[in-house]
Amino acid sequence: MHPNDPKLRSFIGVDPSSDFPIQNLPYGVFFTPDQPDLRVGVAIGDFVLDLAALEAAGLIRFENATGIFARPSLNAFMALGPQVWTKTRARISELLRHDHHELRDNKELRNRALVPRNFAQMHMPFEVDGFTDFYSSKEHATNVGIMFRGKDNALMPNWLSIPIGYNGRASTVVVSGTPIRRPRGQLKPPTADMPVFGPCKRLDFELEMGVVIGQASAMGDMLTEKQAEEMIFGFTLLNDWSARDIQAWEYVPLGPFQAKAFGTSISPWVVTREALEPFRVKGPAQEPTPLPYLQQKGANNYDLRLEVDLKTEKLQKPAVITRTNFKYMYWSSVQQLAHHASSGCAMNVGDLLGSGTISGPEKSERGSMLELSWGGAEPLDLGGGVTRSFLEDGDSLTIRGWCQRDGYRVGFGEVEGTILPAL
Ligand code: MN
Repeated sequence: MHPNDPKLRSFIGVDPSSDFPIQNLPYGVFFTPDQPDLRVGVAIGDFVLDLAALEAAGLIRFENATGIFARPSLNAFMALGPQVWTKTRARISELLRHDHHELRDNKELRNRALVPRNFAQMHMPFEVDGFTDFYSSKEHATNVGIMFRGKDNALMPNWLSIPIGYNGRASTVVVSGTPIRRPRGQLKPPTADMPVFGPCKRLDFELEMGVVIGQASAMGDMLTEKQAEEMIFGFTLLNDWSARDIQAWEYVPLGPFQAKAFGTSISPWVVTREALEPFRVKGPAQEPTPLPYLQQKGANNYDLRLEVDLKTEKLQKPAVITRTNFKYMYWSSVQQLAHHASSGCAMNVGDLLGSGTISGPEKSERGSMLELSWGGAEPLDLGGGVTRSFLEDGDSLTIRGWCQRDGYRVGFGEVEGTILPAL
């Protein structure tokens, strides 16, 4: 049976509303209080399956390599390539099936290898080699363009031809749960003659997906659609924290710099490209037709629902502030990667691509405070007398995402970050 077969069942009971059924099997890096060594596991229902323990017990093997999962990151595993990813996922799926005996009937190993998820501390799942952030939602680019330049110049002339991006910082990509310190920077209100240095006053989130690159390409090489696709190991949720006031002053002419360098949060579980196969959909029609190196035959978008909630110190319970879908993206991850390498730029194992803020056509589907509050002109009403134009100290923002199919969902868990006051 294929690991994505909806009929598959595990000997571990999994609630139909769980993000982590046997059809998902996302990879993460964790430790436990009784065993502080970082190691690789997959999420299954309310458990983490310790892959280092299975590898040590000989239930998972690699040709010419050992200790692949007894490591603090997924990079060594990703470097083995897409054929190994497929084989390993199929083997893990087999070991978890209700009708397969090797793990199910080995009580001693099962007790050791199945860690309750609330007992596991999640760590960064991979070592980020480089971080690039794109700007690939037409709705988001149009909204921001209208606010910054007016309706007639909303989309810059290059936008429909190039997946626009910038090179971000790998050094400040952090895992869910890491607090985010309000950044300081140069601010210049429109009414002031000279800039000042101080705490950001327009702190924002950006709802994005992270694309995890699992294979390298050589300096000088261009990528076909198929090559680009096969280099993608999987996806995470991503919050590209943004300081809008710092950004507005610094972005001309080279784009964002410090406004987005102080922190980027990702979810701890990397959902594999293979687990998302059943949820592929065609993206929006592209007009004008992209240049040949960007043309794609495949349906390279995903029907992946996304939701953001905001918790404030005064609110009783978190308020959902947006619901959108990854399928709206104009440029696909495959096109972004093909474009990234097109000059001869080498890609590395562990590169992370941010999809760009994901906004949909409706007002309730916008992926940033900047758009939701329309630059602060229409503050969001969170109920209970609480309003927000931008994020305040103590606010906690959570992104969730999942693909839904009859009987099960392939989910990403969540990425959370709480704002600490500026130093
Ligand atoms: Mn971004």
